[in-house]
Amino acid sequence: MMADQTRLSETLDSISDPLSGGGLVTSRRAAAPRLSGNKASVILDVTGLDADTRQRLEGEVRERLLALEGVDEVRVALTAEKLERRIIAVGSGKGGVGKSTLTANLAVALHRLGVKVGLVDADIYGPSLPRLMSAEGKRPVAIEKQLQPVETEFGVPMLSMGQLVEPGRALAWRGPMAGSALGQLVDADWGAVELLLLDLPPGTGDVQLSMIQKHRPAGAVIVSTPQDLALMDATRAIDLFRQAAVPVVGIVENMAGYVCPHCGETSDPFGTGGAQASAEALDIPFLGRIPLDIGIRLASDAGRPPAAADGESPFEPVARALMDWLNKRNA
Ligand code: ADP
Repeated sequence: MMADQTRLSETLDSISDPLSGGGLVTSRRAAAPRLSGNKASVILDVTGLDADTRQRLEGEVRERLLALEGVDEVRVALTAEKLERRIIAVGSGKGGVGKSTLTANLAVALHRLGVKVGLVDADIYGPSLPRLMSAEGKRPVAIEKQLQPVETEFGVPMLSMGQLVEPGRALAWRGPMAGSALGQLVDADWGAVELLLLDLPPGTGDVQLSMIQKHRPAGAVIVSTPQDLALMDATRAIDLFRQAAVPVVGIVENMAGYVCPHCGETSDPFGTGGAQASAEALDIPFLGRIPLDIGIRLASDAGRPPAAADGESPFEPVARALMDWLNKRNA
């Protein structure tokens, strides 16, 4: 049977849309199929598809249309809506408070809540997200100069400064170099990702300031331990975001209370409630408390984020609080 416009549409609709599973025409992925002479043309909206899927879909459309009698040439034009992707920065006044641990687990918890989330590790001093997410040694490739995020087994794609340099090489970068490397990570091919969590380097110096000024996160989450000193540092982190006019979503208290590995009871070697009290004093929302738990450290070291384990994790309420904040901002 010779091809006509109807047959063109039917053929397109018999190809399934990678996201919705419906036909390409029904799901409005393919539009304006036209036949002029022996030339078929179609517009494909590839919004939300990653580079691989886009290529595969375009190939399939070509192949199926070329198989129609009377079609010798196929033109496919690709369009994409610019997805509104938001960045949430995770910062801390100093290192070692569990900022990277929190970022990785928050991402996994968000994914489990159905959010399309990606991870960017900007911690030039100690990029640890590849280890935390079992992605060590995975090198991202670039397609047409755009980095392709690395997939992880936890459903959260990621990119890390640590993946851009040889393992073990000191990342003694100064501001501008770190800034342009971070640009490559943020502007990578994130596909359908709607929320990027950005693990900032610890501290409140120029490197952090220029990163947040350049990438303008929608908000910032601050991680602190209950100790006074860490809290003073956290206050500095709050000032840093205020200086850059980035709204602070809230503060998370990490290593709050010690869970005894033997009896399961919680004690408070560093005091408790310090972060919450200081959040109140500073008029900043308190997002939650993660206990000091050897299980968290062991699972993290083994590249198994505790938030990915069965059952509710302490990271889930923090993920929900973050989503509430984002949804309110959207409204
Ligand atoms: P930062 O990114 O702030 O430098 P990390 O996330 O690398 O800190 O955490 C520092 C160390 O503390 C890691 O060994 C990590 O496994 C451990 N850690 C973080 N949070 C907890 C916690 N709630 N309980 C037990 N260990 C933790």
